[in-house]
Amino acid sequence: MTDRQVAVIGLGNMGAAMAETLARAGFAVTGYDPGAGPRARAAAAGIALADSPAAAFAAAPVAVLSLPMARHVEAVLTGDDGLMASGLADRLVIDTTTSEPAVTRRLAAVLADAGHALVDAPVSGGPAGAAAGTLTMMVGGAAADIARAQPVLDALSAKLSLCGDVGAGHVVKLVNNLLCAAHLLTVSEAVRMGVAAGVDAETLIGALNAGSGRAGVSEVNFPRWILSGLFDSGFTMGLMRKDVGLAQTLAGDTGTSMPLLDVAARLWRDSADALGDDEDFNRIAALD
Ligand code: NAD
Repeated sequence: MTDRQVAVIGLGNMGAAMAETLARAGFAVTGYDPGAGPRARAAAAGIALADSPAAAFAAAPVAVLSLPMARHVEAVLTGDDGLMASGLADRLVIDTTTSEPAVTRRLAAVLADAGHALVDAPVSGGPAGAAAGTLTMMVGGAAADIARAQPVLDALSAKLSLCGDVGAGHVVKLVNNLLCAAHLLTVSEAVRMGVAAGVDAETLIGALNAGSGRAGVSEVNFPRWILSGLFDSGFTMGLMRKDVGLAQTLAGDTGTSMPLLDVAARLWRDSADALGDDEDFNRIAALD
């Protein structure tokens, strides 16, 4: 076995695109997902499929995880049919899930005791970035483990930020997504004011993006998904509400006071009444 063999566990919007990108880059990819739809899509793209997480870990020394939440990561690593139960040795796990730093650190210690390694590498850039291999990755882990993960990280990303020890990538990702969530609210409110005062929304966003009030949301989300009316980013309200909730938990755990961001978090939580979990996360911009 060589580190050119990679398992991808979780073949949803992000994982399927990552599996295809890795296969295109010359890795031998084995995928696993319990869902019939994701399995069919991966099979159609020529990705070999395993029947369980343990079988996927058995097929490759390196595994990329792209799962909804920390509990799913825990299940594939320490559950009945997961890595720890498999008796396999010396696996490198690259967790791209937007997960919980405390859980990541705990799982990394459990894996290390059994001779495995964990690198957290959550991503920004959506399914399009995963498909093009141009994600931004926020990486946490020991230097030697990151060096081993480097060929896979390079194939998936255009920009790597080394954030510190294991768990640090997940901290940075929660900070990033909390800000993105808040900026969607603040930019939407400010744009509504500008439009009400007589300026066309596209003109306003164009001018704003040349000024100091710009944000990633005004530069990317407004032109691509909101003003276009497409709302097809591939990132859902449910996942963003999860991330905002995790960031609030992190603020609580660290004793951080964030009065403005608490208001933003409440608005995201309350949006569940009007916008279901499967809606595009940019829809929050249209809520009054
Ligand atoms: P998704 O819901 O489309 O995919 C998740 C997949 O995991 C599903 O196919 C599901 O069947 C599978 N899954 C669930 N339990 C599993 C298990 N035990 N073993 C294997 N597979 C299992 O979600 P997504 O949009 O692909 O996001 C994946 C992760 O990436 C999330 O943590 C999300 O927050 C993060 N993320 C998503 C985006 C985006 O734009 N979609 C961007 C950055 C980060």
